[in-house]
Amino acid sequence: MDVTDWKTERRKTRQIEVGGVPVGGGAPITVQSMTITKTADVEGTLQQIYALAAAGCDIVRCTCNEVEAAEGLAQIVPRSPVPIIADIHHQYKMALAAIEAGVHGLRLNPGNIRKPDHIKAVATEARDRNIPIRIGVNAGSLDPALYDKYGGATPEAMVESAQREIAYFEEVDFDLIKISVKASSVPLMVEAYRQLAEVTDHPLHLGVTEAGPPPAGLVKATAGISTLLMEGIGDTIRYSLTADPVEEARAGRQLLEALGLRERKNVDLIACPSCGRAEVDVIDVANRAMEAFGDREIPLQVAVMGCVVNGPGEAREADIGIAAGNKRGHLFVKGRNVAVVPEHEMVDALVEWAEFIHEHGTDAAIAKADTVKAEREANRDRTQLLADQGLDANHSDDKIVEIRKTVAS
Ligand code: SF4
Repeated sequence: MDVTDWKTERRKTRQIEVGGVPVGGGAPITVQSMTITKTADVEGTLQQIYALAAAGCDIVRCTCNEVEAAEGLAQIVPRSPVPIIADIHHQYKMALAAIEAGVHGLRLNPGNIRKPDHIKAVATEARDRNIPIRIGVNAGSLDPALYDKYGGATPEAMVESAQREIAYFEEVDFDLIKISVKASSVPLMVEAYRQLAEVTDHPLHLGVTEAGPPPAGLVKATAGISTLLMEGIGDTIRYSLTADPVEEARAGRQLLEALGLRERKNVDLIACPSCGRAEVDVIDVANRAMEAFGDREIPLQVAVMGCVVNGPGEAREADIGIAAGNKRGHLFVKGRNVAVVPEHEMVDALVEWAEFIHEHGTDAAIAKADTVKAEREANRDRTQLLADQGLDANHSDDKIVEIRKTVAS
């Protein structure tokens, strides 16, 4: 095998899409992480999601453990820059509520949602709405029957757990599946994934669970994930660290870059998905910005945000960004407002400031700005927009009513 064969000779898998991000089937390997905020804390969770996206995370998972979390998801999903997956344990109704909230994917643990009727009810709903599900087997929470059958959490027991869940899904004709067989033991997870890769062509999500704090956690996760990646196994990855999740996203990204599986030389443009608050056509501005930056080697994170109400806060980790408000563009550097320009000059100003930052750094950009004036102008437009649009521009309250009905039924 040539030393770089793992980059091209990857295991052939089916492809699924998580909120428009392809996973498997030759798509670039994606980085995932998970928020550690209470999902009911919408603003705090969104801030963490933006920080994760800026750190290179492609897909973010949030826990959906209670009805307040599902209601939070109804507000988070329309404002998230990346697809959101709801993490479900024990209560299948939380999966139904998360679907109602509009999530892009679910993670189910077969070890703790075990009733076939419940599993099939969730898969049927996911099938009807085209939402993929990750079968997230975990060595620490295997079905006790499998534990007894195999005398412990063996690779064979973990693979059988995944296969049983696949069989339930197949009964209702659902196949938008990805699978993980995580363990905190690196040899155990490596062997479980190897065996799983032999018996299924569904895409695989790699991870060493409960790897612990860095640096030991980083070493364990890297050992397990990179061993498999270099065998051509794995379509999406997550570092599970006892640390700020931004460290997980960075580590995942850096590992893929180190293995030559992902590359970043140019602008990393993140943009909000737009929502009821948007003051401009975000897709158009983002496309024009992408075009303006072209192939220039400016390895900065640049954010295009639809509104000044939430944009600068949500994208505070980006090196530079612009948010629309009241026919004006508000430029911000590392979350600090630095200038305001007419709307039609937004893209030019963005490029100009990005070039300055690339040459002189963010501190110099903030130092040259009249931040007091820029912040005052941003506050003025923010207040105006809130007065015009009200507090619930995304009609999330309607979804919350549906969630409550679903959970109460
Ligand atoms: S328009 Fe504003 S609130 Fe909506 S997603 Fe964009 S930045 Fe967030």
